[in-house]
Amino acid sequence: MTNIDTLLHARWIIPVSEGDPCLVNHSIAIHEDRIVEILPTETAKNSYKAAVEQEYSQHVLIPGLINAHTHAAMSLFRGLSDDIALMDWLQNHIWPAESKWVNEDFVQCGTELAIAEMLRSGTTCFNDMYYFPDITARVAKNAGIRACVGLIVLDFPTVWASNAEEYMEKGIAVHDSFRNDDLITTSFAPHAPYTVSDRPLEKIRSFAHEMDIPVTMHVHETAHEVEEAIEKTGMRPLHRLVELGLVSPSLLAVHMTQLEQNEIEILADSGCHVVHCPESNLKLASGFCPVSELLNRGINVALGTDGAASNNDLDMLGEMRCAALVAKGVAADPTALPASAALRMATINGARALGIDDKIGSLEAGKNADVVAINMNSIETTPLYDPVSHLVYSCSREQVSDVWIAGKHALKNRVLTGLDETSIRQQAHEWSRKIGSED
Ligand SMILES: [Zn+2]
Repeated sequence: MTNIDTLLHARWIIPVSEGDPCLVNHSIAIHEDRIVEILPTETAKNSYKAAVEQEYSQHVLIPGLINAHTHAAMSLFRGLSDDIALMDWLQNHIWPAESKWVNEDFVQCGTELAIAEMLRSGTTCFNDMYYFPDITARVAKNAGIRACVGLIVLDFPTVWASNAEEYMEKGIAVHDSFRNDDLITTSFAPHAPYTVSDRPLEKIRSFAHEMDIPVTMHVHETAHEVEEAIEKTGMRPLHRLVELGLVSPSLLAVHMTQLEQNEIEILADSGCHVVHCPESNLKLASGFCPVSELLNRGINVALGTDGAASNNDLDMLGEMRCAALVAKGVAADPTALPASAALRMATINGARALGIDDKIGSLEAGKNADVVAINMNSIETTPLYDPVSHLVYSCSREQVSDVWIAGKHALKNRVLTGLDETSIRQQAHEWSRKIGSED
């Protein structure tokens, strides 16, 4: 018998590993922050003596979901401004509200709210882009959730910095203070081609290369963005980014709803990653990312919710369902993006995009123990023929019962162990009273 910290016995385990297996009556042995072994429950009970041993006899265990694009603190703007187009939404609602309200306390409170929601929906890692990334990193670290914190860059002044140089300087300082952290990594996050000019983009390319971190950017979110860029620069944004040397395996291009055939070839040849945010794209009527075609060309496509102001939730189970359904509609093909492919987008593809697929994204021996338990014993998921089908097409996030991150029990029978739900809700209400009364 080997002594370990935790032994989880489950009815089903979907490891999201090679060949998409679904293991029945298996167990996960966890010691410290790692998965030691996944093996049949009967064998596990004779091989391991665990300090904590738990039965999940009606549950499916999956790898923690990875939200590959969000703006966590924007949770405080959830429902503030809906049902309008992207540029109207940004220029006349979101940017003015941000310049008026966003400060360190806003980011702290909004990020805590977002993390609480994400953990309760089975998300164990998020790729963020927002102001005060130092606060986001600290809050995530304290909450015990994994985060890739975006070092945001814009040409114009905001509450965080006054020009591109200052954004980069402050971003690099945040990177340095979380260097080698177990849970927190960073990426450069130039907002979009239309908000960051060539000179800073060139610097970001070389800094990101030197620092060995990815670059996350909204690219080709709407047709309007592309048309405006052609008027101003004579080029489509993706071609401009190619000229600037940014389209590489380090790039996470978010949205990509406007793609010509030659651009799909560029993406495939460059090895860059696409982050698909179907609910935000639908809500803002931004267009459709041709996900199925991209996957068929071997392009890595991850999944994100975008911020709660344009979604309006941070629910990766819901996002998977939406992605699977929209992909079929867009491709006019019901075989496009099957459930198992949607689950890969929300797990291993996200890890690959962030360059951490050696650590997370699937349940395999040696990887970090980021695990989610989903209770299938409910009317809504009865009967059950195929757990993967239910995960994508039938489950709701209320069925997420438990979450572990790096072996730590972060959500225990739907109760957050590292965050105070009551105080998070109170603080968010206080903010909404201020914001709502003056907007
Ligand atoms: Zn976004």
